[in-house]
Amino acid sequence: MKQPQSPQASQNPRDYVIATMGSHSALQILKGARDEGMRTLVICQKGMERPYQSYGVADAMLLVDDWKKGWNAALERELMERNAIVIPHGSFVAYLGHNRVARMKAMYYGTKEILEWESDRRKERKWLEQSRLLLPRVFKRPEDIDRRVIVKFHGAGGGFGYFVVKSKEQFEEVKRKKYPKEKDFVIQEYIVGVPLYIHYFHSPITGELEIMSFDKRYESNADSIGRIRAEDQLAANIHTSYTIVGNMPVVVRESLLPEMFEMGERVVKISQKLCGPKTASGKRKGLFGPFCLETIITRKLQIYVFEISARIVAGTNPYINGSPYTDLKYDVPMSTGRRIAREIKQAIGEGRLEEVLG
Ligand code: ATP
Repeated sequence: MKQPQSPQASQNPRDYVIATMGSHSALQILKGARDEGMRTLVICQKGMERPYQSYGVADAMLLVDDWKKGWNAALERELMERNAIVIPHGSFVAYLGHNRVARMKAMYYGTKEILEWESDRRKERKWLEQSRLLLPRVFKRPEDIDRRVIVKFHGAGGGFGYFVVKSKEQFEEVKRKKYPKEKDFVIQEYIVGVPLYIHYFHSPITGELEIMSFDKRYESNADSIGRIRAEDQLAANIHTSYTIVGNMPVVVRESLLPEMFEMGERVVKISQKLCGPKTASGKRKGLFGPFCLETIITRKLQIYVFEISARIVAGTNPYINGSPYTDLKYDVPMSTGRRIAREIKQAIGEGRLEEVLG
């Protein structure tokens, strides 16, 4: 195989390798790249390689002892020698952190700076507010609580210990009894409705925003508490947690789609004012590729956004074979993973790879 001198040197997609970390949505990303005729590489933590061997979606595999130490200069050199383009996903960002990602030298799909905007609660809120999305109110002080609120602790894995109260007195009682030392929390209006995750894809190459699919999550124990009566829940003193176990497909009321397209478009537009290097058009690179708005929809069909993920979400995994929405648009089964590979392939072919790298 010819090794191109620089990322832009070759316009042949076969001279590049789509690489990702073996976790989260890697099966989908690798399968999608293979379906687009690209070569694939998975970087696995030892002991986690079984699915990638069994499903055979990677042409090559690199093994590391653990993520933090394993993702080092030697691994990056190896990736660069192979001309690998690294695709980030949720586990990748969680294990490495945005600072480490920012220092990455290997080719990286996406705007690195966007990860700081999604992981810093204040920055994230500023971005979403400027995008004119409906957000749950945030209460700065417990004295201000005047409705049902959800109290979220920072770094509470799977939302363990989040609690719902509706007055300052209730807040102080739960806090004193259960979390006397906890200082880092946010008090957010509790929205009564159904959670819905909207999967978008924005292409700087075609200039189009697409809605790829939707999911809802299967969370432990939030999705099973209702299986026992309220009295027993109280007696057993069960805490609500939101540990993600899997994802389920959803198709939405069609009349919600126009608003959802507009929401995604505004988020992209504002991101182009906020972050990333400036492009020839004068705008910043901002958010592109796959992203997800995490919402709760009320009975009045108001769409509240409580979080954004600025990369592929695992909720796209039910659609390895395409979703009802991508089926409308594409003549082949189009997963989000495959859409990423198609984007990169097109960018390479048009000599525009730099536009999709961070
Ligand atoms: P992360 O992606 O950071 O792990 P998460 O996506 O699990 O977090 P959280 O913000 O931790 O999201 O919320 C956990 C769960 O709590 C969500 O799945 C949602 O069902 C519920 N939730 C979050 N915020 C609200 C809110 N303001 N009103 C009602 N329910 C909420």
